[in-house]
Amino acid sequence: MSGPSAAELDPDDFGFEHVPETDQSFENALAKARDGVRLTVDDGVELLTTGTDADGIDQRRKEQVLELADRRRAERVGEAVTFVANVNNNVTTACNTGCLFCNFKDTAHQFEADHDGDHDGFTKTPAESRDVVRAAVDRGVSEVTSVSGLHPAFALTDEHHEILRGHDDPARDVNYKPPERYAVDPGTYVEQMRAMSVDDVHLHSMTPEEAYHARRGTDWSYREVYETLADAGLDSAPGTAAEILVDEVRDVICPGKIDTAGWMDAIRGAVDAGLDVTSTMMYGHVETEMHRVVHLKRIRDLQDETGGITEFVPLSFVHERTPLFEHGVVDGGASDDEDELLIAVARLFLDNVDNVQTSWVKYGDEKALKTLSCGANDFMGTILSEEITKRAGGSFGEFRSFDDYVEMVTSVGRVPVERSTDYRTTRRIDPDDAPHGPTLGPRADGTPLLGSDERAERVGDDTDRGDTDRGDTDRGDATADD
Ligand code: SF4
Repeated sequence: MSGPSAAELDPDDFGFEHVPETDQSFENALAKARDGVRLTVDDGVELLTTGTDADGIDQRRKEQVLELADRRRAERVGEAVTFVANVNNNVTTACNTGCLFCNFKDTAHQFEADHDGDHDGFTKTPAESRDVVRAAVDRGVSEVTSVSGLHPAFALTDEHHEILRGHDDPARDVNYKPPERYAVDPGTYVEQMRAMSVDDVHLHSMTPEEAYHARRGTDWSYREVYETLADAGLDSAPGTAAEILVDEVRDVICPGKIDTAGWMDAIRGAVDAGLDVTSTMMYGHVETEMHRVVHLKRIRDLQDETGGITEFVPLSFVHERTPLFEHGVVDGGASDDEDELLIAVARLFLDNVDNVQTSWVKYGDEKALKTLSCGANDFMGTILSEEITKRAGGSFGEFRSFDDYVEMVTSVGRVPVERSTDYRTTRRIDPDDAPHGPTLGPRADGTPLLGSDERAERVGDDTDRGDTDRGDTDRGDATADD
């Protein structure tokens, strides 16, 4: 698939079919939400826009929606705010897909052995992945999140390599070049899964887009692919790469990716293979409110069908350093009002998904804490990074300790709770019992993820925190999901 470059796009020319117009009124939609009646797309649009009868956000109406969502959250999951002790181990930044919202990929030809020139990307061998995960598991994490670029040398198995090599023009036909072309061989997906599956750590990996890459050029079903990966240690799949599940939007922002039907098929395949999945939405770029609610409807339908979705993760588009922004296609991301309303309407609309996540990476601490009173109940994960585990002098900016979590969550009057990735195991944390550390990982014993000397060092490095936001990349948005 190919599409226009960002430079060729004119926002006035999108001609979207899905526009925020409804036959519903805000008051009726609000009354339905209050009564717990399942919302229609029109209802959702009215709530998200605080009424299509006027431009802009009506602050009084917004507060009504947020209040209702907060009440629904309390009824559904109580006062707990959950988080997970996790580490990100992304295998490679090599990718040729060219999504226009992505600021976190590197063109794959730069990784070829004979490429002349430097680049900032990386590819890890399975042995290197294992080292990262083992170190994190030793520190007490319970989850590994791994999301990567679509490296042309990546194949599911050796058999897959042979099939891909057999195509007439593998690079053109199936986005494949053999590992020997590259400076570092990422191994197969199965080898990476085996490598990262250390002890009983929960391995959360293989988005629908990666699963597509792991079956390209074959007639294998998504279920078969996910079963093979599950046999190698995969425990659940992140529902990133969803972006907006409406093709007229995908055609603009990620024409090289699988379409809406493909994403939903992959999720079905993962659930059929016995895996839990998560769901996401990346919003705040070219889409309308109608697209956002149609997306929610597709998630809700999929959950009715599969029952496998553990959480919904809203991902507010981070526009800086993306082609969409640099070429003037968008002039920013979502406003605070939009972020709050998106979380609230997700809580009200998704009556079959228990957990709605908020993100300190995307929103920053202050706003993320505010969204905990707009319908969110999950606060993602610690994101212990490789830099920390390797002590390589990197920024600690993407890390939140359990002490941080306890302090933040109790500051808004809620209850801090450590959770497993699948939410099936939880542990309420006693704020008075500091210092706090994880207990659910295979080698976790309540010791903080960082030692006291490392925590002290981290305080000095926190100035780097502000620069950690990225677009919804397939590799970076390990927000526990994501
Ligand atoms: S979002 Fe994912 S698939 Fe798209 S360019 Fe970035 S890394 Fe590649």
